[in-house]
Amino acid sequence: MFNGILIEKDEQGYRARLASLAKTQLPAGDVLVSVSYSTLNYKDGLAITGKGPVVRSFPMVPGVDLAGRVEESSHPAFKVGDEVLLNGWGVGEKQWGGLAQKARLNGDWLIPLPAGLTPWQTMAVGTAGYTAMLAIMALEKNGVTPDSGKVLVTGANGGVGHFAIAFLSRLGYRVVASTGRPEETAHLQQLGAAEVINRTVLSAPGRPLGKEQWAAAIDSVGSHTLANVCAGLQYQGTVAACGLAQGMDLPASVAPFILRGVTLAGVDSVMRPRADRVAAWQRLASLADEALLQSISREIPLGQVIETANDLMAGKVRGRVVVDVN
Ligand code: NDP
Repeated sequence: MFNGILIEKDEQGYRARLASLAKTQLPAGDVLVSVSYSTLNYKDGLAITGKGPVVRSFPMVPGVDLAGRVEESSHPAFKVGDEVLLNGWGVGEKQWGGLAQKARLNGDWLIPLPAGLTPWQTMAVGTAGYTAMLAIMALEKNGVTPDSGKVLVTGANGGVGHFAIAFLSRLGYRVVASTGRPEETAHLQQLGAAEVINRTVLSAPGRPLGKEQWAAAIDSVGSHTLANVCAGLQYQGTVAACGLAQGMDLPASVAPFILRGVTLAGVDSVMRPRADRVAAWQRLASLADEALLQSISREIPLGQVIETANDLMAGKVRGRVVVDVN
């Protein structure tokens, strides 16, 4: 038997609890992982609280990220004792995920632990940091460099926002952070933000085109914010869009695209091909040191996951939450 968070939905309603589970309950897969750490992402918060339709089948163990050690394997790439990492692939949505002491998975979804990072450190980075790096790679693919101009990061106090600020500033970019929590200004500056703006400037309906302010942006907020970001990018600027914290809608006009040559680059981390994942993790490993990860993350046990998921949905969590499942 082992412990895990279990989400159920039946005539008694939608609920999550800390449960004792049997190995025989685990889904099919060619690698059994003894999980060391998982994390709490926005998507996990939606799944655990039931505030978003993330879970596709019930019962479900949530957790889109995990790091651990291979306990059994019939996959040619992995042997017992290997340290591995997983982000996404529908784990915690369609297949039992990382918020449990064991997970049985398709070995094709796993990557070896990146050199230079411990299992705890990879989970402090988690999908948030990996997505921030994918977003930076999307900007670079479109020719953005530190010389291009300022880069705006929205949702600055979230997991993706924190890493986007830290990584961009370490790569030499001048970062403008947009937040609804101005009281966190000093913390955001410590992470690497050169300027901090209030998100209300961006979150209300705006004009089709505004002043050209930023060479590029990483947006985890969507909705009016993303529309205003597009309207405020410099000529041929690029925004990497990866989130929907304000909303899934995009009430924008085509003006920034057809008059300023702006690029809207979509970022998906979940189904990302393996080569991109390995490249993103290799790059971020050199940027995510222990001091940064400690300043961004806090650790909780499995028993605090459900209450922390509620806090996350209420916007009360800053940065990253690492879950020690043992
Ligand atoms: P968090 O909950 O940690 O952060 C979201 C941040 O967005 C908050 O901290 C807040 O920042 C801001 N925010 C929240 N509500 C609003 C609102 N109503 N209006 C404007 N800003 C708001 O989430 P993550 O950083 O983990 O994820 C961010 C987004 O990215 C989520 O939508 C998530 O689903 C998505 N995501 C997408 C991935 C992909 O593959 N495309 C992968 C990972 C995440 P502040 O307080 O500073 O304003």
